[in-house]
Amino acid sequence: MNPSQIPGNLLAWYDAHARALPWRTPPARERAGEPAPDPYRVWLSEIMLQQTTVAAVKPYFETFTARWPDVGALAAAPEEDVLAAWAGLGYYSRARNLVKAARVVAGMGGFPDTEEGLRELPGVGAYTAAAIAAIAFGRRAVVVDANVERVVSRLFRIEQPLPGARKAIREAAEQITPDRRAGDFAQGMMDLGSRICTPRSPRCDDCPLAGDCMARGHAPERLPVKAPKKAKPVRQGRAFWIEREGPQGRQVWLVQRAPSGMLGGMRALPDDGWSARADGSGELSLEGAWAETGTVRHTFTHFTIELAVLRIETAPDAPLGDGEWWPVSHLDEAGLPTVFAKAARLAQTAPERLL
Ligand code: SF4
Repeated sequence: MNPSQIPGNLLAWYDAHARALPWRTPPARERAGEPAPDPYRVWLSEIMLQQTTVAAVKPYFETFTARWPDVGALAAAPEEDVLAAWAGLGYYSRARNLVKAARVVAGMGGFPDTEEGLRELPGVGAYTAAAIAAIAFGRRAVVVDANVERVVSRLFRIEQPLPGARKAIREAAEQITPDRRAGDFAQGMMDLGSRICTPRSPRCDDCPLAGDCMARGHAPERLPVKAPKKAKPVRQGRAFWIEREGPQGRQVWLVQRAPSGMLGGMRALPDDGWSARADGSGELSLEGAWAETGTVRHTFTHFTIELAVLRIETAPDAPLGDGEWWPVSHLDEAGLPTVFAKAARLAQTAPERLL
């Protein structure tokens, strides 16, 4: 193995095979004379891609950049609009941090251009700062996402299990990161990981790094070795579909969740207070003839919720506290997070059984 050959071989492969993605500019070699990547688009895509697939992010990225074409526009947007546009993408604290960071950047007059400066922004951790510094500003930065982790653990045949192996993987990645074109190198490694050095069936015969890969021929699909996963707890809760005949048709009662915590600040159906740590209280949110419509199951990062969905019809003037009546026909514009969107679908379609 000769690690010094890796950057050149990878960059030559990237020049020929780079994926076209809405937030990307072509490889630097083809880009001569064209504008450098826009830090706003790089940052936005990196935040969206955290724990989310490229396919899921594409339509959101298009919507966001059409609606808020630069960081100033996003900084001026009401947080609730951004949260609603983010609905369905998950990990909603990212959307709240997005607005906060946009306001900081707009106040500074532009994005910081170093890893250290970028790390000061809300929602920007070590990986994201390195990726933006390398891709948008051409800085030499060591960018290690899950794809890079996989490729590097195979190239250097690192057999130690994750997460303990991270230090060795980082040191190895540091060794092969070039001084020039670090952004293209990072994106090339990501592309190689998603297209060639895939988790279950790496295509070593098509790999530009095969000549310098220590795992080739030694069952590379085993790597990186992962520590066994802990089973996720399953929580029980209830969500309430409260409906009335409003002045302009059917309406459903929506609340805004507390600003901090899970799904904070988002519109939602009322519920019985379930969380990652505890089941809901089981208490009904008002007296009356409730009907069961069934249960939805939704998995978050650390737990799964089994949410029983209950439905009731109220009088038009029923006092319900803080919240708003929302037209059922326009529910898709409310920006409900996925778990409540599933519950809403069930409430509208499932047959009922009186409690
Ligand atoms: S040779 Fe195979 S295992 Fe090694 S980097 Fe390439 S695809 Fe991955």
